[in-house]
Amino acid sequence: KPGENPQIRPELREQHLRATDGQVWTRFPPEPNGYLHIGHSKAIFVNFGYAAHHGGKCYLRFDDTNPEKEEARYFQSIIEVVRWLGFEPWKITYSSDYFDQLYDLAVELIKRDKAYVCHCTQEQIKADRGEKISAPKACVHRSRPIQESLDEFKKMTDGYYRPKEANLRMKMDLTDGNPQMWDLTAYRVLDASHHRTLDKWKIYPTYDYTHCLVDSFENISHSLCTTEFIASRQSYEWLCDALDVYKPRQSEFGRLSLQGTISSKRKILQLVDEGYVSGWDDPRLYTLIALRRRGVPPGAILSFVSTLGVSTAASNIQIARFEQTVRQYLEGSAPRLFMVMRPLKVIIENVPDDYLVMVDKPFHPKNPQLGSSQIPFTRTIYIDADDFRLEDSKDYFRLAPGKSVGLFQAPYPITCTSYKTDSASGEVTEVFCRLEDSGTPPKPKAYIQWVAEHASSGSPVCIDETRIFHPLFKSDNPLAATPDFKADINPNSIEVIKGAMVEVSFWPLAKRYVADALEEARARSAEIKAIPGAGSHDAHTPEITTEQL
Ligand code: ATP
Ligand code: MG
Ligand code: MG
Repeated sequence: KPGENPQIRPELREQHLRATDGQVWTRFPPEPNGYLHIGHSKAIFVNFGYAAHHGGKCYLRFDDTNPEKEEARYFQSIIEVVRWLGFEPWKITYSSDYFDQLYDLAVELIKRDKAYVCHCTQEQIKADRGEKISAPKACVHRSRPIQESLDEFKKMTDGYYRPKEANLRMKMDLTDGNPQMWDLTAYRVLDASHHRTLDKWKIYPTYDYTHCLVDSFENISHSLCTTEFIASRQSYEWLCDALDVYKPRQSEFGRLSLQGTISSKRKILQLVDEGYVSGWDDPRLYTLIALRRRGVPPGAILSFVSTLGVSTAASNIQIARFEQTVRQYLEGSAPRLFMVMRPLKVIIENVPDDYLVMVDKPFHPKNPQLGSSQIPFTRTIYIDADDFRLEDSKDYFRLAPGKSVGLFQAPYPITCTSYKTDSASGEVTEVFCRLEDSGTPPKPKAYIQWVAEHASSGSPVCIDETRIFHPLFKSDNPLAATPDFKADINPNSIEVIKGAMVEVSFWPLAKRYVADALEEARARSAEIKAIPGAGSHDAHTPEITTEQL
């Protein structure tokens, strides 16, 4: 139950319960060093969803303690995507909001003899840990007098030291079996300007030092994180106890990953920077902005993560399962259009040149609420080249010489009477058919898609370029496949098709979707401008044009 961590001192618990009124308070704490990916949607769902389910509150907290890796554009996109998924943060905060408080507590920690300034190099620290990574030796700095550490920490703060020359380390327990207890670094010197605190600080707190304390300041009741932090729970609690502050309860859940994709911001950044993909929203990626661009609705993503459960088991899910959920989600609501990817011309010889039937075609076979469109059916139609074969066989039901096939929604089936080939390539260029509009028409065993030529109604709509996205990687586990995951990239992950054709109702639908998307995007960027503290990121608000959409 909220606040009922048995290890919390009663007065700290009282203080916490007064702040939260016993509600569930959670936080989603991304580091603004990249765009969020499908894995984050699980953390968003767990944190926001758990709080909402219990009538509690969830913070969006930017864990911005690493100024070298963070950029303003990431902040903005993270807010946008959280909202796109349908969650509204109770408050948007930044770890950097608490830099002063964190600093004061660091001084307090030194005074309590629970932290010291250390000048060892990373190599020395490693060497102290020995070959087997067992209980390390204490270094010479660990036992220096408190006052000396206070003075050195001041020097770190004043910019006396260059990066790596001095670190504030917590005086934890070198005899513990958990390496997270081996005097973790609390503060390091960084020669970097922070996008919020600018050049105020020469030193920055680490994740291990910051995370639990900010959870404590914000009165988080349930600190929910992924299982790689299980070992960190001990250091989390150690630090809260060392400073006598309210100690939130940490619980862990398993990470989500999709087979055959990369969900590490650092690695996705490499793909973007090195030009393997066109950007963070390249439709072959599984970042949330890529999924959005691809047309995956937020509800489908939530529906997917809600099926995963929140056990500590890491889930490595097949892409097919994700896509299946998306399809199911879209099934009842997405309008269907006829499209022929590789058009093959079909001439219906037994009807006059000006033959025209307007077909009332429902947008969805089972959902009349989606409405219907009027599409022309004329003497010249196009079918997909894959739906025609010269050689017939018993298990083949589509068009072949002498054979009949049904045309979805059209009044009658057609039967192939002859065809024309290209003299050079031997490829079939035109097919001649008879419309079975008299007598007893043959009962077709299959129906195929088609679009008709009818200039005055603008049919068909010709698509200059159609892109089909295949998996970006060749194997299910690109990170394990080769020493360099980029060697596993599938060179044929984009298939480009020229000259596909779509039914004429494409235009009104497309215009509606673009208009809706445009409005949504404008609303989002207006909301972002309205967020206090987001002002400094305004320069990065893109002007969205219809063309881009
Ligand atoms: P990356 O390695 O991509 O940078 P991260 O874990 O460092 O990921 P953060 O921005 O720190 O990313 O993540 C914010 C929150 O989202 C954390 O609580 C983290 O545990 C959670 N999270 C990140 N990736 C996943 C994932 N694949 N599945 C579930 N939760 C995740
Ligand atoms: Mg992180
Ligand atoms: Mg990370």
